[in-house]
Amino acid sequence: MISYPPRETLAVLPSPFQCLHRASERWGNGRRIWCKRDDLTGSLLTGNKVRKLEFLAADAINRGCTVLVTAGALQSNHCRATAAVAAQLGLKCELILRGHEQELSGNYLLSRLLDAEITYVSRGTTGDEMTSYLADAQDRWARRGEKALTIPIGGSDAMGIWGYISAVEELMSDMHRHSLQRAAIVHATGSGGTQAGLNAGVLLHGVDADVISYAVCDDEAYFNDKAQADWDNLRANRTDLPNKPIKTLTNDQYIGPGYGKAGEEVFDTLAELARLEGIALDPVYTGKAFYGLVTDLAKQSFASESPDIIFMHTGGVFGIFPHASEVEAALGRA
Ligand SMILES: *Cc1c(COP(=O)(O)O)cnc(C)c1O
Repeated sequence: MISYPPRETLAVLPSPFQCLHRASERWGNGRRIWCKRDDLTGSLLTGNKVRKLEFLAADAINRGCTVLVTAGALQSNHCRATAAVAAQLGLKCELILRGHEQELSGNYLLSRLLDAEITYVSRGTTGDEMTSYLADAQDRWARRGEKALTIPIGGSDAMGIWGYISAVEELMSDMHRHSLQRAAIVHATGSGGTQAGLNAGVLLHGVDADVISYAVCDDEAYFNDKAQADWDNLRANRTDLPNKPIKTLTNDQYIGPGYGKAGEEVFDTLAELARLEGIALDPVYTGKAFYGLVTDLAKQSFASESPDIIFMHTGGVFGIFPHASEVEAALGRA
């Protein structure tokens, strides 16, 4: 038994696990495609971030923090989920968002609705600069007599990754219920925490699964190092955990034009999946990972031999609303 750090109950769990029969017929090339519906972890919380936030928020409360501060893009799912968690727990929230104040839409609308204090920084702000803005924010809150927990981009750190170590336990019971002996777990990777957690979970729980992580930004080396670093940081004060590296498998071939920008092929694929299965993907994360998966299956270049593939639907549906014209174009091509 692994002992977990303290956790707040925030997400609606376990999330559903479904076989996508029509999608398997369309794209599986002889394999079955399953979906772990982490897009259904809660109405405003939706997605993978709330699993990390269950541990991060508990940590904040245990340290006596009154504010959650985090950073991301204007349309960040992670920032919206953090604002929702803060409101739910009666904490304050500050979001440091890349971009300018603009028309309310998608996640940005929700973050405002959830009463987060927003600090806008320029679009070109680097990850390191974001980290120093987070530290500045913590000092500012301290001067106001408040204690802030700063959460890194995506909630991906040694505490956040417990969320997906725990999710692997859920997947084990899903696999057991459906008699899957082994599986390929496919997901989108953006800040590396879901990837680190899934790979650590597979290692710690001894699951026969390959975790294949489709990058939506940055390259293979970046993600392999980032996920390994999160795992190393987690183990730093946990001598009870095995002193082994995690195995990472990153595919960086489907980033397309860049973070937050997707080509027609991604919109066409997400529109087709919506018609076939009633599942909506987003163009920033899940749409790219799913497009990568089905393209690799068609080319017989998918990185696992497993007959069963589990697509982790990490959420992000609000990210589609700011892309109405591209969706409309995809409907016109269908
Ligand atoms: C953040 C996010 C991801 C990527 O998860 P990371 O842990 O940041 O790598 C994938 N899908 C969606 C919808 C997300 O919001």
